[in-house]
Amino acid sequence: MARYTGPVCKLCRREGEKLFLKGARCTSPKCAVEKRGYPPGQHGKEASFRRGRTSDYNAQLREKQKARRIYGILERQFRRYFAEASRRLGPTGSNLLILLETRLDNVIYRLGLADSRAHARQLVSHGHFDVNGVPTNIASYGLKAGDQITLHGSSRNLRYFREIRAYMEQRPPLPDWLSMTFHGDGTFTATVERLPDRGEIQLPLNEQLIVEYYSR
Ligand code: SF4
Repeated sequence: MARYTGPVCKLCRREGEKLFLKGARCTSPKCAVEKRGYPPGQHGKEASFRRGRTSDYNAQLREKQKARRIYGILERQFRRYFAEASRRLGPTGSNLLILLETRLDNVIYRLGLADSRAHARQLVSHGHFDVNGVPTNIASYGLKAGDQITLHGSSRNLRYFREIRAYMEQRPPLPDWLSMTFHGDGTFTATVERLPDRGEIQLPLNEQLIVEYYSR
């Protein structure tokens, strides 16, 4: 599936807030939002002074773009997630966020195995993980309650994974809906204990605005 390959910090500057797309750099003084907190482009600085009341449409559009950018998804695929969320029982906005949150690349990120979703996506597409014992290299793979993620055989000896516990200590704690067990040989089994609740998805997103955007 195609992905955005342009400059990443520009996306945060466009939204006017940190979207944490680049791992450790996002918490360092090098963050572009800290250094240049105005929109990108030739007239970005002037635009930041002109920013006043925005229309409802603009608020809805920005929220949708923000969600897409956080999860690294292009418009067409995002629209498909929205259609799937509307078909499911329950509030569409929460369904949408749960679908996004249970993508394999996002779960790898939440487990602390990668320092950004883009990094997680790369690890998945390079075939480092098995889901329920089956090699899976599709970043958008949707996980279900009870699914287990393990390291693919040929990846077990990679230095990155041998030292993964040290990296994980610097990353956010594991959410309650995931669990992880390390084995004596340094490998691990991660389990999706259940689907996350909306309240457990700690992101600065108002999903109602996204629903309104697609319901126009
Ligand atoms: Fe966004 Fe991170 Fe770049 Fe800062 S460093 S602008 S938070 S991607």
